[in-house]
Amino acid sequence: MKTLSILGSTGSIGTQALQLAELHPDRYRVTALTAHVSREKLFQQVRQFRPVYAGLTGASTPAELGEIPENLRFCEFGVGPEALRTAASRVEADMVLCSVVGIAGLAGVMDALSAGRQVLLANKEALVTGGHLVTQAAKRAGKPLLPVDSEHSAIFQCLQGAAGNKPVALWLTASGGPFRTWSREEMEHATRAQALRHPNWNMGAKITVDSASMFNKALEIMEARWLFDMPAEKIRVVVHPQSIVHSAVAFADGAVIAQLGIPDMRVPIGYAMSYPERLPTGGPALDPLSLGSLTFEPGDPERFPALRLAGECLRAGGAACTVLNGANEAAVAAFLRDEIPFGGITRLVEEALAALPSLPAESLDDIYEADREARRLVAERIRKGQI
Ligand code: MG
Repeated sequence: MKTLSILGSTGSIGTQALQLAELHPDRYRVTALTAHVSREKLFQQVRQFRPVYAGLTGASTPAELGEIPENLRFCEFGVGPEALRTAASRVEADMVLCSVVGIAGLAGVMDALSAGRQVLLANKEALVTGGHLVTQAAKRAGKPLLPVDSEHSAIFQCLQGAAGNKPVALWLTASGGPFRTWSREEMEHATRAQALRHPNWNMGAKITVDSASMFNKALEIMEARWLFDMPAEKIRVVVHPQSIVHSAVAFADGAVIAQLGIPDMRVPIGYAMSYPERLPTGGPALDPLSLGSLTFEPGDPERFPALRLAGECLRAGGAACTVLNGANEAAVAAFLRDEIPFGGITRLVEEALAALPSLPAESLDDIYEADREARRLVAERIRKGQI
């Protein structure tokens, strides 16, 4: 029996992790849950999973959380960033699943590692922005990060059979998203509904828009750099529209080991939860005979500059990856509010990188400052209509 705290329990990953906990009640006990703003859904989860602690991080005062229903008073409730800290490090938990969206995950991951928790990492931004600090903290804790992102879980699974042999390259697969075959001109004014129509994966709005712009893949290149200690040049993106091969590793002898499965996040979430064991997830198995053909094509950095920006930011070092991430988060939020066209997302990120070339990233404070600068710059451009 392992105890589990989930940061971001009402989102897509958190909800599926709870399905797995429900499927294996003899294996997992949920001790803490946090949501950002989904109060009713959080209450419903508390009712079902009976954690000792629950937090609503988007509320800043207990009054905003509102009245706790009588039958939930066995659970302690908290609000604001402090609730994330409590669920990450103060409540008893063998494992902390960090599935909050955005740079907000960095503090939770650092707190959990400082408390010696096993971190199951679904929040890629923690590594994108604070990769050097997070990997050092994981080393100090003696608990390797367990990736939940499907591509990184695939690579992690492939490496289980490597017997210490270091890969010569990582192949990061990408579905290509809804705009895989679109021209830049067509993408320029793509609507929110079009960007949110992912062909294979059912995910939250932010990551779905990131898949359409391929900024998700840029963040994943950065994430892979830290998880697997690989330089950007050895992390290659291959577009694979069927999303069956979840990623692969290449070795010195020419062998390439890949992990395959139907696109179902319960597999990588479940593997991180039960590692090194494998448990049923409730999902169907892959039937190779039903697949037809699997196809692979190169990513196109002309139409998707995010693919080029990832390597550039990693090579630039400092807070460049944080600036890319902060500018992208701000731009995607503006796109989802219908304030900018889809094409504006990439332009705003490129402008933020050009305007903020060499900010330091020595400490968490440096990283948060670079993030604020990037967001400020994007907000200002949008306000002035310079998109
Ligand atoms: Mg992914």
